[in-house]
Amino acid sequence: TTAPVLLEVSGLSARYGKVAALTDTALSLRAGQIVTVIGPNGAGKSTLLNAMMGALPSGAAASGRIAFQGEDVSQMEVEERVARGLSLVPEKRELFTTMTVEDNLLLGAYKRHRNGESGYLDQQDFVYTLFPRLKERRKQAAGTLSGGERQMLAVGRALMAKPQVLMLDEPSLGLAPLITREILSIISQLRSTGVATLLVEQNARAALQVADYGYVLEMGEIVCAGPAGVLAEDSRIVESYLGVG
Ligand code: ATP
Repeated sequence: TTAPVLLEVSGLSARYGKVAALTDTALSLRAGQIVTVIGPNGAGKSTLLNAMMGALPSGAAASGRIAFQGEDVSQMEVEERVARGLSLVPEKRELFTTMTVEDNLLLGAYKRHRNGESGYLDQQDFVYTLFPRLKERRKQAAGTLSGGERQMLAVGRALMAKPQVLMLDEPSLGLAPLITREILSIISQLRSTGVATLLVEQNARAALQVADYGYVLEMGEIVCAGPAGVLAEDSRIVESYLGVG
């Protein structure tokens, strides 16, 4: 595509003490694209997203360039990155289980709310349009939701910040295949709104089905990349990540 590049990562490395988790990685994301990073357990997928968000645990260190709309955000705090348009749905969805669905959503927009912006209500309508199930359950405590609904809520909360780049860490984790497909199909609806999605997945089959472009991460290094349809046909990837069937 010829959509503008929103996010460009280069030379990104990260370590936990002496242990290197990510080595000299590079990737880019265009407006309206779904890009996936697939790879086995422990490859460094979560580390990659957390490093991009500035959300690595204390004791971890990252270096490299993360350019968002041409501006290097790599030294910024998480909140500054959120304000620029980056949003992360962490692997542990981190919902407030005793609070209602709607209050969890509002927390995703608290900054904008505090700044006196009114657009968050429009964004809430947008989230409810994408996830009608959340609207039906808006007065319910988040802890009473099913696994799939919780994942929808985690995605919805991330969308409340009105991101241009949405990063998802293993949204399929612990979910039945049907629910995973439902969530990924909603993600693909976001494309038309110009939001770019970076989807990290161990479930390579589902991820490559929905993505435009993919990267394969192994032991902290990107070992191959290409259009998702091409990766899905690549014999080495089929053998390592797609199995039979
Ligand atoms: P998974 O799919 O299992 O979550 P992943 O691809 O997301 O794996 P990471 O969680 O990024 O991989 O882990 C990459 C490497 O860094 C692994 O070797 C892991 O053990 C190590 N690691 C991750 N978090 C920490 C931490 N907080 N402290 C020390 N080492 C860590």
